[in-house]
Amino acid sequence: MPSKSLLITARSFGKNDPMHVVTLEEAGFTIVECRESPNMDRSCLEAIVSDVESWVVSAFPIDDALLSRCSSLRLIIKHGIGVDNIDIPAATKRNIIVMNAPQVNPIPVADLAMTLLLSFTRRIVEAHQCVVSGNWSQFLGTGVDGKTLGIIGLGRIGLAVADRAKAFGMTLLGFDPYAGARVSVQRSDIGVVDLEHLLRVCDFISLNVPLSNETEGLIDRKALKLMKPDAVVINTSRGKIVDEAAIYEALSEKRIAGYATDVFEREPPTGSPLLELPNVLLTPHIGWYTRDAMKSLGDQVVDSILSVYRGETPGNILNREVLSAFPDGLWFES
Ligand code: NAD
Repeated sequence: MPSKSLLITARSFGKNDPMHVVTLEEAGFTIVECRESPNMDRSCLEAIVSDVESWVVSAFPIDDALLSRCSSLRLIIKHGIGVDNIDIPAATKRNIIVMNAPQVNPIPVADLAMTLLLSFTRRIVEAHQCVVSGNWSQFLGTGVDGKTLGIIGLGRIGLAVADRAKAFGMTLLGFDPYAGARVSVQRSDIGVVDLEHLLRVCDFISLNVPLSNETEGLIDRKALKLMKPDAVVINTSRGKIVDEAAIYEALSEKRIAGYATDVFEREPPTGSPLLELPNVLLTPHIGWYTRDAMKSLGDQVVDSILSVYRGETPGNILNREVLSAFPDGLWFES
């Protein structure tokens, strides 16, 4: 008989919309909360994970060592889309189902990419700080109309960034070894080019790729050397796609004009030298964080958990090979 003990570490699940937790409680789940925070003590978590059967997580790293303590765990669900913090092979080895909430609306992230771009070029943060501190100066900005935006990763967010930038009169280039051919047929407004060309000619470069072995460090010293001195990199994907030491050097030496990022190699980026630079614009991983997006995310998490406990096998199970361990269907309620 399943214990229906459910651990919530995800920072935001049920916070803005308590109905998500209430729905699970009404469905018979015993909720254990231990919310993720920057200085979360891993040992606190180690003490409780052994009894939980399901886990709603956001960014906390679930590695092999932690999983070895999760003797009752059968289901991990990411409150979000990117599962790079979960060791999926280690979970699979233990027949633990890993799911995510894949229907993440790309629009809020694309909006943030454009917000970062425009806030950087119009120096909005400096201007605001000037006025609230009782001063009155003018801040010479840079226009974007007619400038070239290079989009690396022509998926859902990358294409939504393209739509927004087009409305601001920007010329669009894109690079994507997988979707590029399709996009060049479907979108005459985006010039699909190779990476080197994009890096050499663009005024702005928006990173919209998932983190993978292939994309980690994609923007390294070599890539940065190809960029124009007035290039601005905008990162709303994952921090590790940029080699932060390399971009710090490029920014300090003014070999590129700016780095506007929502994501960092390590979050929060406490002590990062990037924090001291004048030519950066930094936000605390808020790309996805809007009320509307959070409601949709929570709905998906609740529906997915209830679906698995009904014995169904929803499409957002990421390690479907685990299902072969349950030839008579999942072990939960029928
Ligand atoms: P997506 O899967 O729709 O698109 C990703 C695109 O990247 C795909 O077209 C893929 O072909 C392409 N790609 C893969 N490897 C590549 C490479 N080496 N070079 C160039 N292109 C490559 O994903 P999406 O919904 O657009 O999201 C993109 C990323 O944004 C996510 O993986 C996630 O890391 C990040 N994200 C960030 C936030 C935030 O809050 N800042 C929120 C959601 C997603």
